[in-house]
Amino acid sequence: MRTISKWLVVFLTAAQGCLPAQLQAKSLATRLLEENRQSLQPEIIQVGNNVYTAKGYDVANISMIVGDDGIIIIDSGRDVARVSEVITQFRHITHKPVKAIILTHSHGDHTGGVALFQQQGENPVVWVHEQFNAEARRFSALKEIYRLRGARQGGFLLPPEKRISNGIAPAFSPQAGGGFNPKQWIAPSYNKLTHPRHILQIAGITLELIKAPGETEDQLAVWLPQQRILFSGDNFYRSFPNLYAIRGAGYRDIAVWAQTLEMLAALQPQYLIPGHTRPVFGTENAVNALRTYAEAITFVLEKSLEGINKGMTPDQLVAYVVLPEDLANSEYLQQYYGSVAWSVRAVFDAYMGWFDGNPINLVPLVPQEEAARMAELAGGEKALQVKAEQALAKNDTRWAAKLAHYLLVLDPANSEAMRLQATALEQLAEQMVTTTGRNYLYTVAQELNQRADKN
Ligand SMILES: [Zn+2]
Repeated sequence: MRTISKWLVVFLTAAQGCLPAQLQAKSLATRLLEENRQSLQPEIIQVGNNVYTAKGYDVANISMIVGDDGIIIIDSGRDVARVSEVITQFRHITHKPVKAIILTHSHGDHTGGVALFQQQGENPVVWVHEQFNAEARRFSALKEIYRLRGARQGGFLLPPEKRISNGIAPAFSPQAGGGFNPKQWIAPSYNKLTHPRHILQIAGITLELIKAPGETEDQLAVWLPQQRILFSGDNFYRSFPNLYAIRGAGYRDIAVWAQTLEMLAALQPQYLIPGHTRPVFGTENAVNALRTYAEAITFVLEKSLEGINKGMTPDQLVAYVVLPEDLANSEYLQQYYGSVAWSVRAVFDAYMGWFDGNPINLVPLVPQEEAARMAELAGGEKALQVKAEQALAKNDTRWAAKLAHYLLVLDPANSEAMRLQATALEQLAEQMVTTTGRNYLYTVAQELNQRADKN
């Protein structure tokens, strides 16, 4: 895969600011995402003798291990139509019944289709980590806001032309509720992984389940020792990892995540099947992929802590923690899905809490007071609006968005400010390669335009 240094991205992005509008139709970020999209197309990939992974059908990979008298499914997808398509593809390969389903973790994109696979066998066993779903239980009071921000991050409400991919999977919108009706669940008799490692024999296949906390506490990895095939769950995929989810999520203990990756690399897998994106073939490549990931995570953590210890604020840290060039150029670390800057902020928050150390933030002006004073500085609300329009015209987009924000704080019904901010956010989205943020900006812009239309 072609890789482009982030410095080049910064340079070209800055250079584009000087181009006339008609030449800016496609930003570099857009072109990089379009190029990466090719690797996310649906494909059934054979790995080793008897393992198949369906990549790019649903959001997450769905894998099948073919045994003597049955098959084992690893992760079940989410969307009913997509999962059904995968089942059809798998049934071209074998008609053996499903004996077991292993869920690498509890996120909906890996679990929503479990009932469909249960129907493909006679009461197959389901294996999960003993902490399965702990995250959802802990945050159950926040369902509404998670749904709203999750839809923004996922771009589910955007028209197709605004969505190139979701960075590690094709862009599509799983049907409401994930296309999955919880009532369809066949009472699952979950087997829980309680030991660090557990060896199983299913359909003549020897496999090992390994506790692998990282992206979630309830992550488990699956290891086929005979063929040296490793299923990493979401602790690895071909993008800089989503160390912090902007939809809103608790801190992901990235020190533990890096340790888990080192432990998985020590297995010396010959094949690495990620939770999303294409598998990695060959021991050298697979070990290198896992180590590169661990190295990047450790770098972000240690450099952040170093900066925090020097008294840096989150804003200063973002400028301070820059991946070294070899990591920045790695094909496994392009920021299609996770962002270094947002990870750094998450580390600050996890280790220091919300207070950045600046005393004025202990006694802040309420937003309305601050916005009123900004308007006063500009020479009144009308003048502030003119400044915002001028900033937008000069491609000073972040400033335009900020000034529009002040206008909306002063008057939440100001349609012109809504449209101004929407345009600014759309321009910022177009320059952004991290799809979660890109989707978020585009979706909020769409919400603002819709509100302005109703006014
Ligand atoms: Zn996932």
